[in-house]
Amino acid sequence: MKTGIREMAEGIFMITLPMPFRLKHVNIFLFLEKDGFTLIDTGPNLNGVLPALEASLAEIGRRVEDCRRIWITHFHMDHCGLAGIIAGRSGASVYLSEIEELTVRTFAREEDRASRIRCFAREQGLDGGTIDTVIRTFSAFRTATSPFSAAGFLTDGDRLTVGGRRVEVIATPGHSRGHISFHLPEERFLIAGDHILPHITPNLSPDLIAPDFHPLESFLSSLSRVGDLPVRRVCPAHGRPFSDLKGRISEMREHHRERSERALRALAEGPRNCGEVSRFIFGENLSPFDRLLALNETYVHLIRLERETLICREKRNGVCLFSRSRSSSAGSP
Ligand SMILES: [Zn+2]
Repeated sequence: MKTGIREMAEGIFMITLPMPFRLKHVNIFLFLEKDGFTLIDTGPNLNGVLPALEASLAEIGRRVEDCRRIWITHFHMDHCGLAGIIAGRSGASVYLSEIEELTVRTFAREEDRASRIRCFAREQGLDGGTIDTVIRTFSAFRTATSPFSAAGFLTDGDRLTVGGRRVEVIATPGHSRGHISFHLPEERFLIAGDHILPHITPNLSPDLIAPDFHPLESFLSSLSRVGDLPVRRVCPAHGRPFSDLKGRISEMREHHRERSERALRALAEGPRNCGEVSRFIFGENLSPFDRLLALNETYVHLIRLERETLICREKRNGVCLFSRSRSSSAGSP
């Protein structure tokens, strides 16, 4: 997908910024106002991204210094990495959901993040070498998020006005616990962040500071929350805008249904830990970072199956083992 800026409706722009990862780009959104502009998301603080943003702004005669407000869909580096730098240069106020802000504060200390990841991954059967590599990867990208502090919070149901346009905030937890999307009822746009993507299903991971959060259940109910909106354009953070919201939602539901079935099948021959189930689902040949993503994704399926009492877990030698409960084993091949 080409980087650069394009007008989606009068005064509303999508800016596609480069990213040095498999997801080669990220889309952010800009609303023109009389005295500057508001951004939804910022892109990561990685080499070349700020100059790309500056070049796109120059095309519409604006500069970073003209930014008045930044709204953040969720606290992932590709969405908010430049927030601190842009706010520093422009004086813009940064807003996000209260839950995401709690994550910002909790993970302000690198050691906290590392020890939580280590503890979770070990308990779920990931080997020590992979865990070390993953933690090193996280630290290497620490500067990809420039620090910022929130001027206030965005809450489900908030009705905002920006550049004369109405924008409604919709809480869409799942991909992250405090993820929000933005609905523009007049344009019938849904600025969906990572909640709904056209070609991949957003990664679902446990929230290591909120063990009671159930990402898969939340994600599926967040799909229902937006599914009936009269949207004619879904504007995702990765990939091109598209129109068939309902069709895409059905595909994602089906994807997760199949994955849950596969997780259950992985337990057909006896108890396994989450790492083993993830190898059954995703195969062996993954990089350490993808290994963690696979572990996370598998885990959210396992805890849902556990809540449905189809499987149960026990802990042996510090590692969680999952097995089918009697009701799910009976009658299955
Ligand atoms: Zn994300």
